[in-house]
Amino acid sequence: MCGIVGYIGTRSAVPVVLNGLRRLEYRGYDSAGVALLHEGQITVVKRAGKIAELEAALRTSIPECTVAIGHTRWATHGQPNESNAHPHMDCRNEIAVVHNGVIENYAALKRKLHDAGHVFRSETDTEVLAHLIEQFYVRDTNLEQAVRRALTQIKGTYGLVVVAAREPDKLVVARNGSPLAIGIGDNEHIVASDASAIVEHTRRVTYLEDGEMAVVTCGSFSISTLADVPVENFVQELTLNLQEIERGEYEHFMLKEIHEQPDTIRNAMRGRLIVEKDEVKLGGLDHVRDTVLGAKRIVIVGCGTSWHAALVGEYLMEQIAGVPVEVEYSSEFRYRHPIIGSGDILFAISQSGETADTLAAMREAKVKGATVLGIVNVVGSTVARESQGGVYIHAGPEIGVASTKAFTSQLTVLALITLMIARAKGVSREKLSLLVRELHELPEKVEQVLRTSDRIKEIAQKYKGATNFLYLGRGANFPVALEGALKLKEISYIHAEGYPAAEMKHGPIALIDEQMPVVVIAPKDAIYEKVISNIQEVRARKGRVIAIANEDDHEIEHLAEDIVRVPRTYGFFGPIINVIPLQLLAYYIAVARGVNVDQPRNLAKSVSVE
Ligand code: GLU
Repeated sequence: MCGIVGYIGTRSAVPVVLNGLRRLEYRGYDSAGVALLHEGQITVVKRAGKIAELEAALRTSIPECTVAIGHTRWATHGQPNESNAHPHMDCRNEIAVVHNGVIENYAALKRKLHDAGHVFRSETDTEVLAHLIEQFYVRDTNLEQAVRRALTQIKGTYGLVVVAAREPDKLVVARNGSPLAIGIGDNEHIVASDASAIVEHTRRVTYLEDGEMAVVTCGSFSISTLADVPVENFVQELTLNLQEIERGEYEHFMLKEIHEQPDTIRNAMRGRLIVEKDEVKLGGLDHVRDTVLGAKRIVIVGCGTSWHAALVGEYLMEQIAGVPVEVEYSSEFRYRHPIIGSGDILFAISQSGETADTLAAMREAKVKGATVLGIVNVVGSTVARESQGGVYIHAGPEIGVASTKAFTSQLTVLALITLMIARAKGVSREKLSLLVRELHELPEKVEQVLRTSDRIKEIAQKYKGATNFLYLGRGANFPVALEGALKLKEISYIHAEGYPAAEMKHGPIALIDEQMPVVVIAPKDAIYEKVISNIQEVRARKGRVIAIANEDDHEIEHLAEDIVRVPRTYGFFGPIINVIPLQLLAYYIAVARGVNVDQPRNLAKSVSVE
């Protein structure tokens, strides 16, 4: 969530920073600002709302400069208005700070600083940093010393960049729990919270670790710990492609990413599913293979869409591999004193690998002795680094705030892990062969579903005015119902609920009338007949049924008002196919309602605060 960009070099800094902020727009934000250094003075310009507004404000009379920092904010403390937007400054306007994260002890610090005479201009926790640094930034002290001292008093998470009017030749950056990368150019450096703001300038980057800070000048940078112990830097080459973070011919990133799914699912399986041998190879689990196979129990944690993937994972692993699985919201896991220990495996699922709640759950499980493994998209992210092993989903950058391709890739990876365990546990060769073949064929089947887009668009037009939606599914398709409802809520702002189809009669059935669209996932699997009974219950109350059904299902034609056809697959892999029409339905409804689907209100892409 939120974004940081800083530039120091020989070029005009503001365009570089603005461009970087635009690259980070997808992460979700509510206001933005920049601070630029010019002739020993700092000028701050900030605006609530879109970057375009900041850009317009910057067009008028801004001095040329070669050092600037910028921020897109996702408010945690204080309204998303102009005064709360970053950068924040000290009393004398000599220090400017941009910050991602949360300062947990800000209230106590603010009281102290206020008593010492500091005047605050915002309601944010971040502003405390500017005044605290000011407090330590006395004569004979340099900026990094002041920042270092200030940070020893801070409890909480931060990725931050600080500039000072007195030392216009440096940026001071620091990290604790919120990512920060330094892009190394030719006599210039670009610091950012996400590599996508760096990649168009340079591919050489180094990432700060928690508890580290760095002094960055035009021509050099040096990293040290907060205790001032020098750290050797490890420079890596970015593998990210500019094309991957651009929209191309698609109207929205979300639509592009929905259509990428045949490829992203293939990428998740590439080199891992050995079809000829009915084998699965997962390099990231090799060294913990025995622990995984001997696990008494597997716990899977995640948030939002990743949590839905975890719920499908529970069906896969229990039903195919016979391992007991529990799924928890990451945010709940940590605070309920979970009973977990050695012999247990915790899989943490996170697209960004920076989800604060999931990181906290992992750390809790680790302390208690469990083996912690990650299922992550962003290579080198914190979840990946703090895991003892794991599997990358290789979906490529996911820019749309509503997760789509990451979900199907997470499911694919969960299916692969399941097959690996099932094979080792002696599942019959015949069954294994069938599963491997079905998994291998999924990308083509997803392509088939994508070809029904026009039909889904028509359905979206028809129901776009609804104020409520119900999504029903059973078995492994129950989490798909949850995911379908979440997609619709996220980007169309229509209230939607997902339910296990049979649960409907225990309450939500009261909501059904002739206005209520009910999306039912009804593949011809072992519980098809039961789902048909649930559809009858909806119809008896005049609900409008939109069915996701298999191509050869004719019975459904008498029951559903609208049908989207999906190919058949092995039941527990069904979610990977059945979720596609739900993603498209949410997308087309949101577009028809005029919502900016790539930047829906209030949401952030990677939720790096608890
Ligand atoms: N906690 C800070 C604020 O509310 C930073 C939020 C962010 O990470 O954007 O201003």
